[in-house]
Amino acid sequence: MLNIKIERVATPKIKPDYSKLGFGKFFTDHMFLMNYSTEKGWHDARIVPYGPIMLDPSAMVFHYAQELFEGLKAYRTAAGNIQLFRPDKNIDRMNATCDRLCVPQIPAEDVLQAIKAVVEVDKDWVPYDEGTSLYIRPFIIATDPMLGVHPSHTYIFAIILSPVGSYYAAGINPVKIYVEREYVRCVKGGTGRAKAGGNYAASLIGQKRAEDMGCAQVLWLDGVERKYIDEVGAMNVFFVINGTVITPELTDGNILPGVTRMSCIELLKKWGVPVEERKLSIDEVIEAQKNGTLNEAFGTGTAAVISPIGELYDGDTKMVINNNEIGSIAKKLYDAITGIQWGKDADIMGWIEKID
Ligand SMILES: *Cc1c(COP(=O)(O)O)cnc(C)c1O
Repeated sequence: MLNIKIERVATPKIKPDYSKLGFGKFFTDHMFLMNYSTEKGWHDARIVPYGPIMLDPSAMVFHYAQELFEGLKAYRTAAGNIQLFRPDKNIDRMNATCDRLCVPQIPAEDVLQAIKAVVEVDKDWVPYDEGTSLYIRPFIIATDPMLGVHPSHTYIFAIILSPVGSYYAAGINPVKIYVEREYVRCVKGGTGRAKAGGNYAASLIGQKRAEDMGCAQVLWLDGVERKYIDEVGAMNVFFVINGTVITPELTDGNILPGVTRMSCIELLKKWGVPVEERKLSIDEVIEAQKNGTLNEAFGTGTAAVISPIGELYDGDTKMVINNNEIGSIAKKLYDAITGIQWGKDADIMGWIEKID
Protein backbone atom coordinates (compact mmCIF):
# COMPACT_ATOMS: atom_id res chain seq x y z
CA MET A 1 0.00 0.00 0.00
CA LEU A 2 1.50 3.34 -1.07
CA ASN A 3 1.29 6.41 1.10
CA ILE A 4 0.36 8.93 -1.61
CA LYS A 5 0.76 12.62 -0.76
CA ILE A 6 -1.64 14.83 -2.67
CA GLU A 7 -0.90 18.45 -3.61
CA ARG A 8 -3.85 19.96 -5.45
CA VAL A 9 -3.68 22.79 -8.00
CA ALA A 10 -4.65 26.22 -6.71
CA THR A 11 -6.74 26.96 -9.79
CA PRO A 12 -8.04 24.14 -12.00
CA LYS A 13 -7.58 24.60 -15.75
CA ILE A 14 -10.51 25.47 -17.99
CA LYS A 15 -11.66 22.17 -19.48
CA PRO A 16 -11.47 21.74 -23.26
CA ASP A 17 -14.53 21.47 -25.49
CA TYR A 18 -15.32 17.77 -25.09
CA SER A 19 -16.66 17.58 -28.63
CA LYS A 20 -13.21 18.50 -30.02
CA LEU A 21 -10.84 16.39 -27.96
CA GLY A 22 -8.92 14.37 -30.53
CA PHE A 23 -6.23 12.11 -29.06
CA GLY A 24 -3.60 13.08 -26.49
CA LYS A 25 -3.78 16.85 -26.92
CA PHE A 26 -5.13 17.92 -23.53
CA PHE A 27 -3.87 16.99 -20.08
CA THR A 28 -5.62 17.11 -16.73
CA ASP A 29 -4.73 19.18 -13.66
CA HIS A 30 -2.65 16.56 -11.87
CA MET A 31 -0.11 13.80 -12.38
CA PHE A 32 1.25 10.96 -10.28
CA LEU A 33 4.99 10.73 -9.61
CA MET A 34 7.17 8.25 -7.74
CA ASN A 35 10.95 7.93 -7.59
CA TYR A 36 13.29 4.97 -7.47
CA SER A 37 16.78 4.75 -6.06
CA THR A 38 18.86 1.70 -5.27
CA GLU A 39 18.95 2.63 -1.57
CA LYS A 40 15.26 3.46 -1.10
CA GLY A 41 13.54 1.39 -3.79
CA TRP A 42 10.31 2.97 -5.13
CA HIS A 43 9.47 5.87 -2.82
CA ASP A 44 7.89 9.31 -2.47
CA ALA A 45 4.56 8.52 -4.18
CA ARG A 46 2.76 11.78 -4.80
CA ILE A 47 0.06 13.47 -6.85
CA VAL A 48 1.09 16.98 -7.87
CA PRO A 49 -0.06 19.66 -10.33
CA TYR A 50 0.58 18.59 -13.96
CA GLY A 51 3.70 20.28 -15.26
CA PRO A 52 7.27 19.97 -16.56
CA ILE A 53 9.67 17.46 -14.99
CA MET A 54 13.19 18.82 -14.37
CA LEU A 55 15.95 16.46 -15.51
CA ASP A 56 19.70 16.70 -15.88
CA PRO A 57 20.65 16.94 -19.59
CA SER A 58 22.77 13.83 -19.06
CA ALA A 59 19.79 11.83 -17.75
CA MET A 60 20.07 8.39 -19.30
CA VAL A 61 16.62 8.39 -20.86
CA PHE A 62 17.71 11.15 -23.26
CA HIS A 63 20.65 9.16 -24.58
CA TYR A 64 19.86 5.48 -24.45
CA ALA A 65 16.06 5.47 -24.39
CA GLN A 66 15.64 3.43 -21.22
CA GLU A 67 11.93 4.24 -21.17
CA LEU A 68 8.71 2.27 -21.18
CA PHE A 69 5.03 3.07 -21.07
CA GLU A 70 1.49 1.75 -20.86
CA GLY A 71 -1.85 2.89 -22.21
CA LEU A 72 -5.33 2.25 -20.83
CA LYS A 73 -8.53 4.20 -20.33
CA ALA A 74 -11.06 5.23 -17.70
CA TYR A 75 -14.65 5.15 -18.97
CA ARG A 76 -17.70 6.97 -17.67
CA THR A 77 -20.89 4.92 -17.55
CA ALA A 78 -24.35 6.30 -18.28
CA ALA A 79 -24.95 6.38 -14.50
CA GLY A 80 -21.89 8.64 -14.14
CA ASN A 81 -19.55 6.08 -12.55
CA ILE A 82 -15.95 5.70 -13.63
CA GLN A 83 -14.39 2.35 -14.48
CA LEU A 84 -11.23 0.78 -15.88
CA PHE A 85 -10.93 -2.08 -18.39
CA ARG A 86 -8.63 -4.94 -17.33
CA PRO A 87 -6.00 -2.70 -15.67
CA ASP A 88 -4.34 -5.79 -14.16
CA LYS A 89 -3.33 -6.86 -17.68
CA ASN A 90 -1.68 -3.52 -18.42
CA ILE A 91 0.13 -3.62 -15.09
CA ASP A 92 1.44 -7.15 -15.63
CA ARG A 93 2.61 -6.12 -19.09
CA MET A 94 4.31 -3.03 -17.67
CA ASN A 95 6.29 -5.19 -15.27
CA ALA A 96 7.19 -7.60 -18.08
CA THR A 97 8.49 -4.60 -20.05
CA CYS A 98 10.44 -3.51 -16.94
CA ASP A 99 12.21 -6.89 -16.94
CA ARG A 100 13.16 -6.59 -20.61
CA LEU A 101 14.56 -3.06 -20.13
CA CYS A 102 16.33 -3.75 -16.80
CA VAL A 103 14.00 -1.39 -14.92
CA PRO A 104 12.97 -2.38 -11.36
CA GLN A 105 9.39 -3.66 -11.24
CA ILE A 106 6.67 -1.92 -9.22
CA PRO A 107 4.28 -4.08 -7.15
CA ALA A 108 1.09 -4.52 -9.20
CA GLU A 109 -1.18 -3.42 -6.33
CA ASP A 110 0.81 -0.18 -5.98
CA VAL A 111 0.45 0.64 -9.67
CA LEU A 112 -3.31 0.01 -9.50
CA GLN A 113 -3.58 2.16 -6.40
CA ALA A 114 -1.65 4.97 -8.12
CA ILE A 115 -3.82 4.83 -11.25
CA LYS A 116 -7.04 4.84 -9.23
CA ALA A 117 -5.82 7.66 -6.99
CA VAL A 118 -4.84 10.04 -9.77
CA VAL A 119 -8.00 9.31 -11.79
CA GLU A 120 -10.03 9.93 -8.63
CA VAL A 121 -8.33 13.33 -8.08
CA ASP A 122 -9.05 14.32 -11.71
CA LYS A 123 -12.39 12.53 -12.02
CA ASP A 124 -14.14 15.65 -13.31
CA TRP A 125 -11.94 15.26 -16.40
CA VAL A 126 -13.49 11.93 -17.41
CA PRO A 127 -15.70 13.12 -20.27
CA TYR A 128 -19.39 12.27 -20.54
CA ASP A 129 -19.96 12.30 -24.30
CA GLU A 130 -20.59 9.08 -26.20
CA GLY A 131 -17.37 7.31 -27.14
CA THR A 132 -15.08 9.61 -25.12
CA SER A 133 -12.80 8.50 -22.29
CA LEU A 134 -9.85 9.48 -20.12
CA TYR A 135 -6.64 8.03 -21.55
CA ILE A 136 -4.18 6.96 -18.85
CA ARG A 137 -0.48 7.02 -19.71
CA PRO A 138 1.83 5.48 -17.09
CA PHE A 139 5.54 5.64 -18.00
CA ILE A 140 8.98 5.10 -16.47
CA ILE A 141 12.16 6.99 -17.37
CA ALA A 142 15.82 6.39 -16.41
CA THR A 143 17.25 9.46 -14.69
CA ASP A 144 20.89 8.73 -13.74
CA PRO A 145 22.97 11.76 -14.82
CA MET A 146 25.73 9.85 -16.62
CA LEU A 147 26.63 8.69 -20.09
CA GLY A 148 27.96 5.21 -19.37
CA VAL A 149 25.84 2.49 -20.98
CA HIS A 150 24.32 0.39 -18.22
CA PRO A 151 20.96 0.20 -16.46
CA SER A 152 20.18 3.37 -14.51
CA HIS A 153 20.12 3.33 -10.69
CA THR A 154 17.39 5.97 -10.47
CA TYR A 155 14.00 6.26 -12.19
CA ILE A 156 10.80 8.26 -12.23
CA PHE A 157 7.43 6.53 -12.60
CA ALA A 158 4.77 8.98 -13.79
CA ILE A 159 1.10 8.77 -14.74
CA ILE A 160 -0.45 11.49 -16.86
CA LEU A 161 -4.09 11.67 -17.99
CA SER A 162 -5.63 12.94 -21.20
CA PRO A 163 -9.34 13.22 -22.03
CA VAL A 164 -9.75 11.76 -25.52
CA GLY A 165 -12.49 11.97 -28.10
CA SER A 166 -14.46 9.27 -29.81
CA TYR A 167 -12.18 7.53 -32.28
CA TYR A 168 -15.14 7.05 -34.55
CA ALA A 169 -16.93 10.38 -34.34
CA ALA A 170 -17.61 10.07 -38.09
CA GLY A 171 -18.54 6.36 -37.94
CA ILE A 172 -16.25 3.33 -38.25
CA ASN A 173 -14.54 3.75 -41.59
CA PRO A 174 -12.12 1.06 -42.80
CA VAL A 175 -8.56 2.35 -43.23
CA LYS A 176 -5.90 1.93 -45.89
CA ILE A 177 -2.80 0.04 -44.84
CA TYR A 178 0.66 0.12 -46.39
CA VAL A 179 2.65 -3.13 -46.46
CA GLU A 180 6.23 -2.29 -45.43
CA ARG A 181 8.66 -4.63 -47.21
CA GLU A 182 11.96 -2.92 -46.32
CA TYR A 183 11.99 -1.61 -42.75
CA VAL A 184 11.01 -3.77 -39.80
CA ARG A 185 9.64 -2.88 -36.36
CA CYS A 186 11.53 -5.48 -34.40
CA VAL A 187 13.34 -8.80 -34.61
CA LYS A 188 13.23 -12.05 -32.67
CA GLY A 189 15.15 -11.48 -29.45
CA GLY A 190 14.58 -7.72 -29.66
CA THR A 191 12.08 -5.55 -27.81
CA GLY A 192 8.95 -6.16 -29.89
CA ARG A 193 6.97 -7.59 -26.99
CA ALA A 194 7.95 -4.67 -24.72
CA LYS A 195 5.99 -1.42 -24.72
CA ALA A 196 9.11 0.69 -25.13
CA GLY A 197 9.34 4.19 -26.59
CA GLY A 198 12.39 3.10 -28.58
CA ASN A 199 10.23 0.76 -30.67
CA TYR A 200 8.18 3.73 -31.75
CA ALA A 201 11.23 5.80 -32.73
CA ALA A 202 12.29 2.94 -34.99
CA SER A 203 8.81 2.65 -36.52
CA LEU A 204 8.33 6.33 -37.48
CA ILE A 205 9.99 5.94 -40.87
CA GLY A 206 7.51 3.25 -41.89
CA GLN A 207 4.61 5.32 -40.59
CA LYS A 208 5.86 8.30 -42.61
CA ARG A 209 6.05 6.18 -45.76
CA ALA A 210 2.53 4.94 -45.14
CA GLU A 211 1.27 8.51 -44.84
CA ASP A 212 3.12 9.50 -48.02
CA MET A 213 1.20 6.70 -49.75
CA GLY A 214 -2.10 8.04 -48.40
CA CYS A 215 -2.36 5.20 -45.89
CA ALA A 216 -3.25 5.36 -42.20
CA GLN A 217 -0.88 2.69 -40.87
CA VAL A 218 1.93 0.29 -41.68
CA LEU A 219 1.58 -3.47 -41.88
CA TRP A 220 4.82 -4.76 -40.38
CA LEU A 221 6.36 -8.03 -41.54
CA ASP A 222 8.72 -10.15 -39.45
CA GLY A 223 12.32 -8.97 -39.16
CA VAL A 224 13.96 -12.22 -40.27
CA GLU A 225 12.22 -13.31 -43.47
CA ARG A 226 9.97 -10.26 -44.08
CA LYS A 227 7.29 -12.80 -44.81
CA TYR A 228 5.12 -13.27 -41.75
CA ILE A 229 2.73 -10.63 -40.50
CA ASP A 230 3.59 -9.00 -37.16
CA GLU A 231 1.33 -6.03 -36.44
CA VAL A 232 -0.37 -3.07 -38.02
CA GLY A 233 0.97 0.27 -36.78
CA ALA A 234 0.56 0.26 -33.02
CA MET A 235 -2.17 -2.36 -33.16
CA ASN A 236 -2.36 -6.12 -33.23
CA VAL A 237 -3.87 -7.51 -36.39
CA PHE A 238 -6.50 -10.13 -37.23
CA PHE A 239 -7.46 -11.66 -40.59
CA VAL A 240 -10.60 -13.70 -41.17
CA ILE A 241 -9.98 -16.36 -43.83
CA ASN A 242 -12.75 -18.75 -44.75
CA GLY A 243 -14.56 -18.07 -41.48
CA THR A 244 -11.51 -18.69 -39.27
CA VAL A 245 -10.09 -15.76 -37.34
CA ILE A 246 -6.27 -15.77 -37.50
CA THR A 247 -3.87 -13.56 -35.55
CA PRO A 248 -0.07 -13.82 -35.35
CA GLU A 249 1.15 -15.89 -32.42
CA LEU A 250 3.13 -14.29 -29.59
CA THR A 251 5.76 -17.04 -29.33
CA ASP A 252 8.69 -15.29 -31.04
CA GLY A 253 8.51 -12.25 -28.76
CA ASN A 254 8.19 -9.80 -31.65
CA ILE A 255 4.53 -8.99 -31.09
CA LEU A 256 3.13 -6.71 -28.41
CA PRO A 257 0.67 -8.75 -26.32
CA GLY A 258 -2.32 -6.42 -26.61
CA VAL A 259 -5.06 -6.40 -24.00
CA THR A 260 -7.59 -5.80 -26.78
CA ARG A 261 -6.09 -8.72 -28.75
CA MET A 262 -6.43 -11.00 -25.73
CA SER A 263 -10.01 -9.82 -25.12
CA CYS A 264 -10.98 -10.47 -28.76
CA ILE A 265 -9.56 -14.00 -28.62
CA GLU A 266 -11.41 -14.72 -25.36
CA LEU A 267 -14.71 -13.44 -26.78
CA LEU A 268 -14.33 -15.36 -30.05
CA LYS A 269 -13.66 -18.57 -28.11
CA LYS A 270 -16.69 -17.92 -25.94
CA TRP A 271 -18.84 -17.43 -29.04
CA GLY A 272 -17.50 -20.63 -30.62
CA VAL A 273 -15.91 -18.78 -33.56
CA PRO A 274 -12.79 -20.65 -34.76
CA VAL A 275 -9.72 -18.60 -33.83
CA GLU A 276 -6.08 -19.48 -34.44
CA GLU A 277 -2.91 -17.90 -33.07
CA ARG A 278 -0.23 -18.88 -35.57
CA LYS A 279 2.24 -17.64 -38.13
CA LEU A 280 0.43 -15.99 -41.03
CA SER A 281 2.40 -15.04 -44.12
CA ILE A 282 1.57 -12.06 -46.30
CA ASP A 283 1.48 -14.55 -49.22
CA GLU A 284 -1.33 -16.49 -47.52
CA VAL A 285 -3.32 -13.26 -47.18
CA ILE A 286 -2.69 -12.32 -50.83
CA GLU A 287 -3.70 -15.83 -51.93
CA ALA A 288 -6.89 -15.70 -49.84
CA GLN A 289 -7.75 -12.30 -51.30
CA LYS A 290 -7.26 -13.71 -54.84
CA ASN A 291 -9.38 -16.78 -54.29
CA GLY A 292 -12.11 -14.91 -52.48
CA THR A 293 -11.67 -16.46 -49.02
CA LEU A 294 -10.36 -13.32 -47.28
CA ASN A 295 -13.49 -12.26 -45.42
CA GLU A 296 -12.20 -9.37 -43.32
CA ALA A 297 -9.19 -7.82 -41.60
CA PHE A 298 -8.88 -5.49 -38.62
CA GLY A 299 -6.43 -4.02 -36.13
CA THR A 300 -7.00 -4.02 -32.35
CA GLY A 301 -5.78 -1.64 -29.64
CA THR A 302 -6.93 0.46 -26.70
CA ALA A 303 -7.22 3.70 -28.69
CA ALA A 304 -9.56 2.54 -31.49
CA VAL A 305 -10.63 -0.84 -30.02
CA ILE A 306 -11.22 -2.28 -33.52
CA SER A 307 -9.98 -0.67 -36.71
CA PRO A 308 -11.23 -2.40 -39.87
CA ILE A 309 -8.79 -2.63 -42.78
CA GLY A 310 -10.42 -1.68 -46.08
CA GLU A 311 -7.43 -1.72 -48.42
CA LEU A 312 -3.89 -3.12 -48.41
CA TYR A 313 -1.25 -1.35 -50.53
CA ASP A 314 1.64 -3.65 -51.34
CA GLY A 315 4.05 -2.14 -53.86
CA ASP A 316 1.97 -1.53 -56.97
CA THR A 317 -0.74 -3.93 -55.88
CA LYS A 318 -3.87 -2.73 -54.14
CA MET A 319 -6.15 -5.22 -52.42
CA VAL A 320 -9.66 -4.28 -51.37
CA ILE A 321 -10.98 -6.24 -48.39
CA ASN A 322 -14.67 -6.91 -47.76
CA ASN A 323 -15.74 -4.16 -50.20
CA ASN A 324 -14.09 -1.60 -47.94
CA GLU A 325 -16.77 -2.20 -45.31
CA ILE A 326 -16.56 -3.24 -41.67
CA GLY A 327 -16.94 -7.02 -41.39
CA SER A 328 -19.47 -8.79 -39.21
CA ILE A 329 -16.86 -10.22 -36.82
CA ALA A 330 -15.12 -6.85 -36.39
CA LYS A 331 -18.49 -5.22 -35.70
CA LYS A 332 -19.54 -7.87 -33.19
CA LEU A 333 -16.23 -7.59 -31.31
CA TYR A 334 -16.40 -3.80 -31.32
CA ASP A 335 -19.93 -3.78 -29.92
CA ALA A 336 -19.14 -6.39 -27.26
CA ILE A 337 -15.95 -4.75 -25.99
CA THR A 338 -17.20 -1.16 -26.02
CA GLY A 339 -20.49 -2.32 -24.46
CA ILE A 340 -18.55 -3.67 -21.47
CA GLN A 341 -16.12 -0.71 -21.31
CA TRP A 342 -18.81 1.97 -21.07
CA GLY A 343 -21.01 -0.22 -18.88
CA LYS A 344 -23.85 -0.47 -21.43
CA ASP A 345 -23.66 -4.25 -21.18
CA ALA A 346 -23.19 -6.48 -18.13
CA ASP A 347 -19.57 -7.30 -17.32
CA ILE A 348 -20.01 -11.00 -18.06
CA MET A 349 -16.27 -11.51 -18.54
CA GLY A 350 -15.23 -9.93 -15.21
CA TRP A 351 -13.12 -7.30 -16.99
CA ILE A 352 -14.23 -4.17 -15.16
CA GLU A 353 -12.49 -2.48 -12.23
CA LYS A 354 -14.68 0.22 -10.73
CA ILE A 355 -13.16 3.46 -9.47
CA ASP A 356 -16.16 5.09 -7.87
C1 LIG B 1 -0.05 -0.85 -27.12
C2 LIG B 1 0.20 -1.60 -28.39
C3 LIG B 1 -0.74 -2.48 -28.96
C4 LIG B 1 -2.15 -2.63 -28.45
O1 LIG B 1 -2.23 -3.08 -27.14
P1 LIG B 1 -3.57 -2.85 -26.29
O2 LIG B 1 -3.22 -3.36 -24.96
O3 LIG B 1 -4.64 -3.62 -26.97
O4 LIG B 1 -3.83 -1.39 -26.32
C5 LIG B 1 -0.38 -3.19 -30.10
N1 LIG B 1 0.82 -3.04 -30.66
C6 LIG B 1 1.76 -2.19 -30.17
C7 LIG B 1 3.06 -2.07 -30.84
C8 LIG B 1 1.47 -1.45 -29.02
O5 LIG B 1 2.39 -0.61 -28.54
